[in-house]
Amino acid sequence: VGLSGPMKASGIMVCVRKRPLNPKELAARELDVISLQPPNMLVAHAMRPHVYRDPILHNQNFRFDRVFDEDCSNAGVFNYTARPLIRHIFEGGWATCFAYGQTGSGKTHTMGGVVEGRNQNVMDSIYAMAASEVFSILQEPESAQRNLRVGCSFFEIYNTKIYDLLSPGNKQPLRMQENCQHQMEVMDLRECPTSGTAEVLALLNTGNGARALGKTSANEKSSRSHAIFQIVLRSANSQKAYGKFSLIDLAGSERAADNSSSDSQTCTESAEINKSLLVLKECIHAMGRNDPYIPFRDCKLTQVLRDSFIGKNVKTCMIATIAPGMRSVNSTLNTLRYANRVKEL
Ligand code: ADP
Ligand code: MG
Repeated sequence: VGLSGPMKASGIMVCVRKRPLNPKELAARELDVISLQPPNMLVAHAMRPHVYRDPILHNQNFRFDRVFDEDCSNAGVFNYTARPLIRHIFEGGWATCFAYGQTGSGKTHTMGGVVEGRNQNVMDSIYAMAASEVFSILQEPESAQRNLRVGCSFFEIYNTKIYDLLSPGNKQPLRMQENCQHQMEVMDLRECPTSGTAEVLALLNTGNGARALGKTSANEKSSRSHAIFQIVLRSANSQKAYGKFSLIDLAGSERAADNSSSDSQTCTESAEINKSLLVLKECIHAMGRNDPYIPFRDCKLTQVLRDSFIGKNVKTCMIATIAPGMRSVNSTLNTLRYANRVKEL
């Protein structure tokens, strides 16, 4: 059995998180077809149809920087993924951490799109733990000297349009513009000054509430938009950005494969998601190779992230979330292949 894995170490860290079988899958006695061999190996057991005999079991092996099994908590995932990036922004760096995977695989559970009233501890999410870590580092004497302030933004990209999740009254899409320092800026995006974790939790509640409002019973909009939560460190004197951390809950990756819908709205959405996930991969590739040209202009998502992609001082972490069930195995393999290609240079 061939081993697919990264050929070369690159600037991006790629991790995979497997969720447990959910009650529905358990009731249907679905098989768990993903075995992890921590710290970094994963085996997918896929059935391959056979013409003359019973289907044969075909194992596919993958190697990542880290794999997290169904027993791993959000805190466990946080420690190896977002946490090291927070030190990086305190050193004046730019960081991005994104969750990629099919709808229902655990992106929002991991990142923290928790809506008030839902049965999950809001502190137990990467958004919240990242904020809490930022405030605790801010207390250290060394960072106190730098005199930094913390601001948070939360927005989503839906069908190439940017919507502010922290100004729920404002339903108008926001525009992008290059500022005088040649940085791409989302015009009029709200950046709320925050001085503690409790304030950030309140913002997350507002934003998650705004995101959930776009839902209809037939179509869950949140699975079709990218949600971006940003923590910005600014110098208190100049207001210049000192470091920035973007934490992203990407649109469901199954849309990338599904362009078969007859509904034109769904078709446009799928094509757009497909494109943005491809461009994202290409940008990460180009960064890893130190290419002079990075195709960030090709979609809104990467335009927004441009400053986090160019320059020497950027770090990226991807968390690929996967469902363990037999019925999801094709989507899971697509996610694993995408994650693998992000890593290959
Ligand atoms: P996505 O955002 O990728 O569509 P969700 O995060 O909404 O998926 O997860 C789908 C369901 O599975 C939710 O009910 C969530 O609470 C549950 N879930 C996801 N990951 C885990 C996990 N690691 N442990 C326990 N439950 C999980
Ligand atoms: Mg989600």
